[in-house]
Amino acid sequence: MSTDLGAYVAAAAVAAVAVITLVARLAPSARSSEPVPETAKFSEPEAGVRYLQCDELRCGHMTYPHRPRPGGTWVCANCGTVKGGTS
Ligand SMILES: [Zn+2]
Repeated sequence: MSTDLGAYVAAAAVAAVAVITLVARLAPSARSSEPVPETAKFSEPEAGVRYLQCDELRCGHMTYPHRPRPGGTWVCANCGTVKGGTS
């Protein structure tokens, strides 16, 4: 008899989680009414710019725009380090 009760409790718990998930999905997001901050708006990238990982300490391996230079190299827009064209 106790195994039947355990199965019932388990099924009820699964159903409760499903209901909570559904309610959370249907609830309006608190962020939707907030205005989009200026930094989050899309801006057109510069022509010819590639977004490459910069390995300098100042950039901390983050991806920054790199502008093309003659000879197939790229210069980091954040720290000015020149990278090879293949890396
Ligand atoms: Zn850099």
